[in-house]
Amino acid sequence: RTVYLNGDYLPEAEAKVSIFDRGFVMADAVYEVTSVLGRQILEFDGHLARLTRSLEALGMKNPMDRAEWLAIHHKLVELNDIDEGLIYLQVSRGNGGDRDFAYPPEGTPLTVVLFTQAKPGLADNPQAKTGIRVISIPDLRWGRRDIKTVQLLYPSMAKMEAKHQGVDDAWFTEDGFVTEGTSNNTYIVKDGKIVTRQLSNDILHGITRASLLRYAAEAQMQIEERPFTIAEAQAADEAFFTSASAFVMPVVEIDGVKLGSGKPGPVAARLRELYLEESRKAAQ
Ligand code: PMP
Repeated sequence: RTVYLNGDYLPEAEAKVSIFDRGFVMADAVYEVTSVLGRQILEFDGHLARLTRSLEALGMKNPMDRAEWLAIHHKLVELNDIDEGLIYLQVSRGNGGDRDFAYPPEGTPLTVVLFTQAKPGLADNPQAKTGIRVISIPDLRWGRRDIKTVQLLYPSMAKMEAKHQGVDDAWFTEDGFVTEGTSNNTYIVKDGKIVTRQLSNDILHGITRASLLRYAAEAQMQIEERPFTIAEAQAADEAFFTSASAFVMPVVEIDGVKLGSGKPGPVAARLRELYLEESRKAAQ
């Protein structure tokens, strides 16, 4: 695999970062994951806007302009022959020198890394037909979940707990309400209405979420942005989640309770189709 590191395209084994990099010792880094379908980049502008926002929130400047970022994405797709897959992008605050909580001096170069992950069958994921089972877990992450940082230990622990319990993923709860999934935004459907938590610092502002809600509104579907509980989700007609890598994924069981028929519902299926169709049209 050929990867990108600070201006160079290198074989992955030659791409090396300092052990003093703050991404490594402090989780002082932000990231994006963008999907590739038919060799094209989905939601490029959305991911770039959120990257810039995450960087600014942490006092870093976006090191490149739109054309440069897009060129790197396209070049990696070409070099690695990616038809369907993901592009991972990370920007860290760079080499902090002798380990120190204080940021390194202004002008210290950021570390920019991008790599591809080939995922043949990404759009045709068989899990979309069977649905996914989740458990709920207390949300013990920090208070700025709107910033997409690489502090992913707690979500990893939650994912492992889900696996230990024989299911696929976990939904976080706080003060009795669902915040989001380990790596996705969460939704329920009741009497045709789509319910999803409103944006705040408590959740990541999903790029897939933003587009999906726009497409759903354009299709005259009813949407309510408010928190919901696990009990409400278990009593809903349908549930699903969204992310750049899963698009729209039906959830058929929560904490051992089957939803409705226990099979993916029609609203999730329609939204998945709608999302794939519209986002492919807008791909770069
Ligand atoms: N919430 C969290 C915690 C995530 O990690 C992700 C995946 N990036 C999402 C939501 C979904 O965001 P997006 O649709 O931009 O992938």
